[in-house]
Amino acid sequence: MKKSTKMPMKRMIIAINEDLCVGCGRCVNSCPTNALELRNEKAALKDERICDGFGSCIAVCPENALYIEEREAEPFDWDILAKIDFEDFIEKLSLHYKPQSIKEED
Ligand code: SF4
Repeated sequence: MKKSTKMPMKRMIIAINEDLCVGCGRCVNSCPTNALELRNEKAALKDERICDGFGSCIAVCPENALYIEEREAEPFDWDILAKIDFEDFIEKLSLHYKPQSIKEED
């Protein structure tokens, strides 16, 4: 993760309960800003600057392992929005509204 020169601020950001996470990767594959990754077979926040804190990934988690917490974090990097592939973004967003169909794919 690159260092930011901006001061940490208190804001809403995703958190992962590793005890509940089964490492299915759905949250990683559905995060519009690619803020999550799998690390040691558990979801992990790759870069807190690109987590928008909306928690849309929560809808796709079959284990309720994701939640939003308020804590000190680096400010959201709004520049990430210019780097997002729009079609990829829409495809990922659509996953948030189909949690049941995602479960049925298993
Ligand atoms: S969707 Fe839930 S269970 Fe699957 S990797 Fe993400 S946090 Fe873990």
